Amino acid sequence: MYRRRLKIVIVCIAVGMAALIGRAAQLQLFEHGRYVRDAQGKLVRMEVTTAPRGTIFDRAGNVLAEDRPSYDIAIIPLRACARGEEAEAANIDALAKAAGLAPDDIRRLIYGENGVTARLAGNIQRHLKWLEKREMLKLSDADAEAYIETVRACSSLSKARATIRARFGKRCLDTFDREASEPFVIIPNIDVPRRDAVVTATDENSGVKVVCTTTRYYPYGESACHVIGYMGHLSGPAYERKEASGYFAKGLDEIIGRGRYESLERANYFASQAFGVSGVEAAMEEAMRPATGAALKVATRGGDETLAARDSAPGKDITLTLDMRLQQAAEQALGQRKGAIVVMDVNTGEILALASWPRFDLNNVSEAVSADNEDHPLFSRATLGAYTPGSAFKVVEAVAAVHEIPGYETVTYPCHGSIMVGGEEKFCRNHSGSDAIDLHDALKRSCNIFFYHTASRLGGERLAEWTRRFGIGRRTGIEVGDSAGRIDEPTSAGEIWNTAIGQGTLGVTPLQMARVIGAIANGGRLVTPHLVLRPEMPHPAVDMGLRADRLKLVREGLLAVVNEPGGTAYKYTRMKGVQIAGKTGTAETGLPDENNAWFAGWAPYDNPQICVVVVIERTRGHGGEVAGPVAKQIFQAYFGIQESSESENEK
Ligand SMILES: [Zn+2]
Repeated sequence: MYRRRLKIVIVCIAVGMAALIGRAAQLQLFEHGRYVRDAQGKLVRMEVTTAPRGTIFDRAGNVLAEDRPSYDIAIIPLRACARGEEAEAANIDALAKAAGLAPDDIRRLIYGENGVTARLAGNIQRHLKWLEKREMLKLSDADAEAYIETVRACSSLSKARATIRARFGKRCLDTFDREASEPFVIIPNIDVPRRDAVVTATDENSGVKVVCTTTRYYPYGESACHVIGYMGHLSGPAYERKEASGYFAKGLDEIIGRGRYESLERANYFASQAFGVSGVEAAMEEAMRPATGAALKVATRGGDETLAARDSAPGKDITLTLDMRLQQAAEQALGQRKGAIVVMDVNTGEILALASWPRFDLNNVSEAVSADNEDHPLFSRATLGAYTPGSAFKVVEAVAAVHEIPGYETVTYPCHGSIMVGGEEKFCRNHSGSDAIDLHDALKRSCNIFFYHTASRLGGERLAEWTRRFGIGRRTGIEVGDSAGRIDEPTSAGEIWNTAIGQGTLGVTPLQMARVIGAIANGGRLVTPHLVLRPEMPHPAVDMGLRADRLKLVREGLLAVVNEPGGTAYKYTRMKGVQIAGKTGTAETGLPDENNAWFAGWAPYDNPQICVVVVIERTRGHGGEVAGPVAKQIFQAYFGIQESSESENEK
């Protein structure tokens, strides 16, 4: 599981060795220097280092997100010009040869527009403004402009430095030296052979430095994108909130000691770093974030003196409950249909797969973010989509009825296709008419009228209470955040009808439905769905206090849905080898021929392991026909069952 991480460490060590052997540029992971002011008002250089962020693994040890080293060639201007103009030119030639570029290209990268000198000039300009604001150095506007221009327009750093010393004096030279001791990247992301060539061809005094930074990489691209989440830089109100909370100051105090130093640009150390914006990257930010290291140094005649230092440390690795094999099977089964799939271990609440479509590529998030896309690919339908559950909701009523109404298994109602409710004709078109339909048959055939009578006998208050007891109307506690869904207590006959058939204002996320069906599968424990695998930290499950003999009546009805002729999923979901039980749903969206198709079920029936919830948006077909086969594919993938096309035709 840790092999990949090990590889990265080995690479870095090998480079370090090469650097030592060649007595060449030292290698450090993302380093930059800034100045802070100590209590006596003296400026102290602060060098910041960071380490890799934690890696995210799936339960099988596949890497889902990792920091990959990337090597940049940087120039430290002060070192580059320390040995005069000729040496500076010779270094450029040596660097060009090693990097496989023309000397003029390197010159452009250093002296050209947006090159090192231009960026250095910008930094010096900010530094001068900072000094001026504190009345520590006052230059006339003309002098300040001439100073900045000397740096910006120079064709040799050595010459520019000599000009500054002669024309603007020691105080100005100090500002140059301070800003020029920072590395400026000129060639980002260089390949390893070229990096090695540069390390060998240049020495520490050349001013050429190989900087090792990291980029976040997602080997699976768009797979499980909503679970894994993405990284971004804080900006605008999010940044201001973070700053107002004292986050940046706290980070700095941790490194250099509370109140010891005032930062020149305190927030910049942290503003330049990426944060988890969504999914596990955001939820586990605190754990996965590396500890920033820093060293406070002052230059003395004998070299740098270190006043205080703290090492950087890598962030913690995270292992998810996801099984990428199953995740990809779920994504494939969903295809390019808007909707969501949840696969959960019914006994523990571990999420094995959580799929939504549309998706986005984690390695190219900016495209998805900037695209004006009405499909909302960033939206995690599995956790945030509060759908009307349609007939899938009847499982809640069934469990409530067998517990609240004695002998409910023998109660029958007639259904001849329609009924008057509050002066309005309501329909059941889910089966052919019957004079006496009981709970078993009503579940199997999804009879609207039976469940309207059931909901009426329970009454609005008890119906709403049982719905809440199943976790609908509040968040599940999953790490990545989710929607609470919605349950309003039905009062009128019309509202009772709507709730009975899972319509109206009722809102249930696919994740909540997985909890509901999971509780029916596992004997009445409402688990906490979770994504981070922490066997040492069991997640709470609420005992709903259900009675096994009562629950059995509902479970048998759900077995019949899939396994008895006439069941709404019989033709589409029945599987050889393992018995599936479940419920279909076809929720109206108010648009003709556009239903949300549901299937929620578990397997094996007798010894439940997983539940699968499928929602497919805006389809013409009914739940059994559209969502049922999708669920079956996932059960097949989980249990390793392959059915020949002949047995498909038997149906
Ligand atoms: Zn009916």
